[in-house]
Amino acid sequence: TTAIAVFTRDLRVHDNPVLAAAARADHVLPVFVHDDVLAGTGFATEPRSRFLHECLADLDARLRKCGAALVQRKGDLVNEVARLAHEVEASSVHLAADASGFAARRQQRLSAELAAERCELTVHEAVHTVLPAGAVTPQGSDHFAVFSPYHRRWADTARRTIASAPKRLRLPPGVSAEKTASAPKGNSAMPGGETEGRRRAHQWLNDDVDRYHTSHDDLAHEGATSRLSPYLHFGCISALELADEAAARHTEGADAFVRQLAWRDFHFQVLAARPRTAREDYRPHGDAWRDDPEALQAWQEGRTGIPIVDAGMRQLAAEGWMHNRARLITGSFLAKTLYVDWRAGAAHFLRHLLDGDLVNNQMNWQWVAGTGTDTRPYRVLNPLRQAERYDPHGEYVRRWLPELANLETPREVHQPWRLGEDELRELGYPAPIVDLDAARERFQQSRGKG
Ligand code: FAD
Repeated sequence: TTAIAVFTRDLRVHDNPVLAAAARADHVLPVFVHDDVLAGTGFATEPRSRFLHECLADLDARLRKCGAALVQRKGDLVNEVARLAHEVEASSVHLAADASGFAARRQQRLSAELAAERCELTVHEAVHTVLPAGAVTPQGSDHFAVFSPYHRRWADTARRTIASAPKRLRLPPGVSAEKTASAPKGNSAMPGGETEGRRRAHQWLNDDVDRYHTSHDDLAHEGATSRLSPYLHFGCISALELADEAAARHTEGADAFVRQLAWRDFHFQVLAARPRTAREDYRPHGDAWRDDPEALQAWQEGRTGIPIVDAGMRQLAAEGWMHNRARLITGSFLAKTLYVDWRAGAAHFLRHLLDGDLVNNQMNWQWVAGTGTDTRPYRVLNPLRQAERYDPHGEYVRRWLPELANLETPREVHQPWRLGEDELRELGYPAPIVDLDAARERFQQSRGKG
């Protein structure tokens, strides 16, 4: 028998149910398709493409150690996999379930194409997440809309067993371990791949996770959070394995960290049940979003004149990553303070984040905009209070806004307009593009809570 393992965003050999199931056949063809549709969406920015290539090179190297190799194709995933299934006379194809409408449609098409080849498609759940979408539901609904009750059930629900990494794989007769494109030799701060992901996960669990409950909101502290999100997004590491290993530590920090992994599952089950909420408001408020291209551009470029917002946006541009607290602050600033449609912000994030993920990005943006599962859609984060609280010494702002690095007090760093127009001009930093108090009133009135 011959099986095809189709890799999507599960680029690992450890705890990969797709590969483990395919490995039960006599011969296995591991495949990754560079899908034309995704390439055409602007999703494949340079840093993300680089990360993906590093992931694929690492996966290929690991597969070669087991005697196989990764076959890469470009085009439409369904057509390419169906063609390969025909060529190698595969009897089964294995694929991970995903939450988006795009993934669901692709899966249906693939199933139909393969049926014509008398080849069976098996879709594996809980490859990207700890629990499958729909594993726990409240009475009378297909998904949880509130996190806390979801989390309680999530924590008590049995999980699948960890899938072991295959030791020996045999390619189908006639297929040789083709040369795959090797990764560009990068010196990036965040190299992609399972090897690097596992290394970072172990380091995080051994050195830092136990402090997570107190450190995670500290904007300036580099080891405050795990920075594992790109590795989780591309599936270089398994969320289930990570959750199990963290939970085994039985510390307050590790428990708080596992709770964040539950947030990831929570958003996944919302989007899987309501795929349209990738674009449409989950809870519409009839918002009259403002069309303000200049403000949007100032926000994207990190020159709104509110330092804590600009620091976040510049971190995103420089690193392809942003601290969660900064995502909350910058997101709230765009959607509520500037009252610009959250979709514009989500699109910008999705393009620039290495962890840019349809599920987590869109659902968090909806949360931030108050159109999602947040139960307090009227509250507006005050960026100045947030700065005082989460960057009390102004260190984060100084790091990302060199023009403010030499100001003396945290108050000056966070509110440089207080120095006066002349000094602000000399610093080369803009005055705020918006009056924060007036903007908050505008938003709350718009939402009918004036
Ligand atoms: P840690 O604090 O170490 O958390 C561990 C893991 O838990 C993360 O890697 C992530 O997988 C998960 N996690 C943590 N917080 C959340 C959350 N709120 N929602 C879902 N999962 C979470 N995360 C993405 O992975 N991709 C995105 O595209 C994305 N877009 C976001 C957009 C906005 C506006 C906001 C507010 C948040 C977004 N997040 C997104 C969630 C969160 O900010 C990141 O997961 C986190 O900052 C990643 O850093 P970390 O790995 O150090 O997180």
